[in-house]
Order: sequence, then structure tokens, then C-alpha cells
Amino acid sequence: MQLPSGLLENAVAQFAKLPGIGKKTALRLVLHLLKQNEEEVNLFSETIAKMRREIKFCQRCYNISDGDICSICANSMRNKAVICVVENIRDVIAIETTQQFNGTYHVLGGIISPLDGIGPEQLTIQPLLHRLESEPVEELIFALNPNIQGDTTIYYIQKKIQHLPCKITTIARGIAFGGELEYADEMTLARSLANRLPVQQYVKG
Ligand SMILES: [Zn+2]
Repeated sequence: MQLPSGLLENAVAQFAKLPGIGKKTALRLVLHLLKQNEEEVNLFSETIAKMRREIKFCQRCYNISDGDICSICANSMRNKAVICVVENIRDVIAIETTQQFNGTYHVLGGIISPLDGIGPEQLTIQPLLHRLESEPVEELIFALNPNIQGDTTIYYIQKKIQHLPCKITTIARGIAFGGELEYADEMTLARSLANRLPVQQYVKG
């Protein structure tokens, strides 16, 4: 793509670094910004720079936060005795959107994946263990993706905390709602059978 200005080209290159944004879309966005007045464009770039500069991670759960402690941990209505372990902040947002969970979180910041060079020490597992030993936690819920790395991570953490009295659970895995049995893979179908629920519980949920 031949652009008539080096400045324009630099801006397009920055936008094109974003996920899902190709060069054409980047150009469209930049040309759109060019049509705005200078004040608005300054507000746009300053908002992003400020977000990057000032955003923090919660010291307790590693969720994204404006202060030292995130709004979920700081909320007295949330049940601090229940911790849901997730891989990343997007998972917190997904679970919060359901409005079905009243406990707190612990964001691991990734998942154990030796092939990608990610071991337990790259994640917030140590702070999680510290939380479990210093807070009166009754239940730890693993809400990790159902794959080998997820299972490895659960196994690793579970080994470290089996001496503690808290209950350890994982979110149910099974056939997707609206899915069809015959198209489910063997592992999913087998797990769904192994983790079957009493019908009263199923229809309530
Ligand atoms: Zn928090």
C-alpha cells in the first residue's frame, strides 16, 4: 500500500499492530481520526496512554484495577471464602457478565504450558498459595479451559494445597447448551457422563 505521507504511514502501522486489524482497516481508522478535530484526537490518545500508565493489578487477586485492590475484592457483598481461579482477565469479565458468581477471583496470568516455556513460577501460583494459607477460604473453584494445560495447572495447584481444609472444585465440563450429542468429541461425552448431575439440580440451574 502506497501512502502519500510518512506520518500517515506510521499511524497506520501502529493501528495495524492491533489484533484483528489489517492494513486497510488501519487506514480507515486513521483517516477517520484525521477528520476529527485535534482536541478529540488528543483525548483519544491521552485516554489510552493514561489507561496504560495508571492501570494496576489487584494486589490480592491480580485482576485489573484502578487502585491497589480491585472493585471485586473491595466489595463487602462478595463472598471472600470462595475463590474462582481463572487464566486471565477476560475470563473474569466473562464470568462477571453471567452475574451468577458472588465469590472472588484469582487471576493466574496464564496457564502451565512447558512447550511455551511457561512454568508455575511465571504465574501467580505462589501468591494464590499464600492467600489460601492466610485467608479463611472454604472453596477453590477452578474455571480453566478444558485442555491438557488446564488440567496440568489444576493438578499442580491441587497437589500443593491438598493438606488445606478448603473444598476444591472445577466448573462442569460437558456438552454445550444447544449442542448435539452425536457431534461431541469422545472426551467431552465421557466427561459429561462421569460428571452427571441429579435432574433436580439440572433443571434448577
Ligand atoms: Zn482483586
